[in-house]
Amino acid sequence: MFREKQYLQLPGPTPVPPRVLRALSEPMINHRGGEFRELLEEVTSGVQWAFQTQNEVIIFPAAGTGGMEAAVVNFISPGDKVLAVSIGVFGNRFAEIAGRFGAQVERLDFEWGQAADPATVAQRLAEDKKGEIKAVLVTHNETSTGVTNDLPAIKKAMGSHPALLMVDAVSSLGAMDLKTDEWGLDVVVTGAQKAFMLPPGLTFLSVNAKAWAVAQKNTNPKFYWDLGSARKYLEKGQTPYTPALPLLTGLRESLKLMRGEGLENAFARHRLMRDMTREAMRALGLKLLSDDAVASAAVTSVFAPERVEANKLRKAAREKYNVVLAGGQQKLDNVIFRVGHLGWVQPLDIVATIAAIEMALMDCGVEIALGAGVTRAQTLIRNAK
Ligand SMILES: *Cc1c(COP(=O)(O)O)cnc(C)c1O
Repeated sequence: MFREKQYLQLPGPTPVPPRVLRALSEPMINHRGGEFRELLEEVTSGVQWAFQTQNEVIIFPAAGTGGMEAAVVNFISPGDKVLAVSIGVFGNRFAEIAGRFGAQVERLDFEWGQAADPATVAQRLAEDKKGEIKAVLVTHNETSTGVTNDLPAIKKAMGSHPALLMVDAVSSLGAMDLKTDEWGLDVVVTGAQKAFMLPPGLTFLSVNAKAWAVAQKNTNPKFYWDLGSARKYLEKGQTPYTPALPLLTGLRESLKLMRGEGLENAFARHRLMRDMTREAMRALGLKLLSDDAVASAAVTSVFAPERVEANKLRKAAREKYNVVLAGGQQKLDNVIFRVGHLGWVQPLDIVATIAAIEMALMDCGVEIALGAGVTRAQTLIRNAK
């Protein structure tokens, strides 16, 4: 087997297209020169396009979690009340980061596999008559469960409450519709290694005028994550410290690919791959963690059949068929497996993935109708416009 031709069906890192890989090996340039300014301006406007925003977008060299921390340290001051909406591991992480930096975090937890209920958010904020809650933290797509929150509904639930709406869109932006401006999202964070088809190591934050005003009064100490400083440097086509040059030249290429496909087409491709995965798993008799109405277009969580350990199934898929599936996180470890279907992935890759899952199920002693899932997926591709 060719390890390089592995099917990396994870919800990040995702496969990197060949032309992006080539762009990663371009020679270094002066990051205080005109060539860099052009590069930074080009990728920044590309990222704004992907965010569907006119807001300033700041690019940091960091994992997505770094972007979440940047959001916390710039827009939440120690002692601030924060409402952290969580539907899984990444919602918990956002809450935890805010807590570490001294926020008074009030949790609004929903069962894993479910989306956040906007009515509950509305009720909690309506009780906060004095406007003490300074920010609402929410995950757009909860990668640990494969559930997408309804951001416009959550924004609507906030009504006229003055809190900032801060969104972790690390696994959704580029794969699922996210209209930063139209939906009134104050801060949006994403990362490179999911729908942007890049290696890990960049995080992007969009910040609107309301959030910039909050940042100016922020009392957290910060240096690396100082967004105000990044904003000042951006005006002269620079970054405050040495940027991750190879990732930025890679980003220039991945944005070309994204623009070439178009956002609507990319969203439709991801939805098709979601439907293929879900219908195929059902055709094989497997249960899904989430309902169709809230199902993620980026990742699908599937329960392993009874008496089969999810991780054994994943091992068979990887070792025998070169298909890498993600495991469950925390309490879902060894209970579910997750099929990533985002980024540089197309429908036929999902047919191969389903074929591997079918064979791995048989290897684990599960009786299935071989080809039932594949046939379903093929039918969906043929029926798609
Ligand atoms: C992947 C992911 C992150 C974290 O990204 P890292 O680059 O691993 O820090 C945060 N939130 C969500 C929803 C994610 O899917």
